[in-house]
Amino acid sequence: MQFARAVEVYEQIEGTTKRLEMTGLLVGLLRDTPPEDLDKVVYLTQGRIHPDYLGVELGLAEKMVIRVLAHATGLDEGRVEKLWKEKGDLGLVAEQVIASRRLKPLESTPLTVAKVYANLDSIAQEGGEGSQERKIRLLSDLLSNATPREAKYIVRMVVGKMRLGVADMTIVDALAATFATKTDRDRVERAYNVSSDLGEVARVLASKGLKGLESVHLKLFRPIRAMLAERLETLDEILSRLGKCALEYKYDGLRVQAHIGTEKIELFSRHLENITGQFPEIVEGLRSAVKDRAAILEGEAVPVDPNTGEFLPFQEVSRRRGRKTDVDKMAMEFPVTLFAFDCLLRENDDLTPRPYRERRKALDSILRPNDRIRLATVRITDSVKEAEQFFDEALQAGCEGLMAKALESTYDAGARGFQWIKFKKEYSAALSDTIDLVVVGAFAGRGKRAGTYGALLMAAYDEQADVFRTTCKLGTGFDDETLRHLPDKFKGSQRERRPPRVDSKLEADAWFDPEAVLEVRGAEITVSPVHTAAWDKVRPGAGLAIRFPRFTGRWRDDKKPEDATSTKELLEMYNLQIKRARKPT
Ligand code: AMP
Repeated sequence: MQFARAVEVYEQIEGTTKRLEMTGLLVGLLRDTPPEDLDKVVYLTQGRIHPDYLGVELGLAEKMVIRVLAHATGLDEGRVEKLWKEKGDLGLVAEQVIASRRLKPLESTPLTVAKVYANLDSIAQEGGEGSQERKIRLLSDLLSNATPREAKYIVRMVVGKMRLGVADMTIVDALAATFATKTDRDRVERAYNVSSDLGEVARVLASKGLKGLESVHLKLFRPIRAMLAERLETLDEILSRLGKCALEYKYDGLRVQAHIGTEKIELFSRHLENITGQFPEIVEGLRSAVKDRAAILEGEAVPVDPNTGEFLPFQEVSRRRGRKTDVDKMAMEFPVTLFAFDCLLRENDDLTPRPYRERRKALDSILRPNDRIRLATVRITDSVKEAEQFFDEALQAGCEGLMAKALESTYDAGARGFQWIKFKKEYSAALSDTIDLVVVGAFAGRGKRAGTYGALLMAAYDEQADVFRTTCKLGTGFDDETLRHLPDKFKGSQRERRPPRVDSKLEADAWFDPEAVLEVRGAEITVSPVHTAAWDKVRPGAGLAIRFPRFTGRWRDDKKPEDATSTKELLEMYNLQIKRARKPT
């Protein structure tokens, strides 16, 4: 098929703002497309060459495209660059300069979809020595045969800015309308959700029709679109809806889909990017933890402070891109632990149509947990009271809440439904100010911190009772020098036992008289069954804790421990924030 036909439809799509009209235009295009070009048209329409998970990106540098445009038209590079600055869209520049080119090619053959796709694919795959020159040649070859309008879209594709706004689900609709009736749309969507590859769906439809979609199965090293959760406000509602169900800790990290084969292991993000290189410690952990060699697991990766054993904010590792050496260093410093919660493939057997119960059993049986790979904590219950208790335990463990799962639910790829229901903590408040807390104890360090303290136990002052009540473990924000000297610094105030004015449920390795005051910044105040500050004030059997506390570096020597932030202040800050958060906007 000639590329001009696709371009004609792209122009019309650009002119419409209505999704229905857009779908209609696409259906027209797909109907005109011969089977052998169908997948190519689907990819090109979204400015892609392959499904996203393969990570094959076009994204040529704009400067390079300007060079090619100048060369193809006989214009000066500076002039093309100036036009680009004016228009801000290199596609429009291409359209204009090709229309006014001074050097017309001696003979030009109309571009076909196959030719455009082949050249773009070669551009994307090129690498190594001399690849720049080869890319330039491939693009010149296209542009010298392109009409101005074709040039506009080719250039937009190569710089990675197609801008047509055709979403995945619009293509699903268009494919369904082309090859099936409306009622069969779900079958097309399912094939997409399982394969994450619209080109593949188009290929199967073109060659085998609707029936062929049944052969699209979960496959190792091809990520499946993630199942998503709905939300309800209370545990009561959740249990009335699901009845007896599985409650799992809801970890606050990054969702990871792990594909485990004999030769290799690959990790994918929720957005189906290949993130294997970013988490060497998970790959290593999986190698020894997973007995079966053709498995797909899902879990949440959370950074753990090796000293306090507590979770860290995910930002600590969320951008582990950089060079391999940097990634390895970060993996040592803030290793992540993968909490596995689902098993989608075992011994090459697709478990997604099986009930949760069975998948969880499979997960339990193929995992031999280690430091890096653990099982998500789960409780099966129909009692609201037990669920509330479990929720408290989840918060205490540093999780953001619970995920409730219907015991009979299948794994519905790409779907958001009430088979999975999330319940996040309602009792938490953002903390914008720093607070001043008193050091009342310490925990022995491990690994790099062996011989010194790994974390300090911090407390707020209760004026009424004249005691210090704990509110967090503090392990981050210390430089190496300060860390090394901590035991010396606190030697004078160390006590054999917990001092009478300290109220703590935690057992510290060293206890101190409340003397030193440190400035601390935290992310939020949460209700905690472990810490004793403002005990019973927000909820029976719980106090207030600081989540993700970090030492600002400031020792408040100017403050006496009784001048530290009081438990009453903490409670006020908490209430104020909650009130603000609940105010309708
Ligand atoms: P949210 O991002 O708030 O919509 O919550 C859904 C996300 O919670 C999922 O995509 C996972 O990344 C994450 N999550 C954490 N723990 C679990 C769990 N036990 N089961 C399922 N998802 C979980």
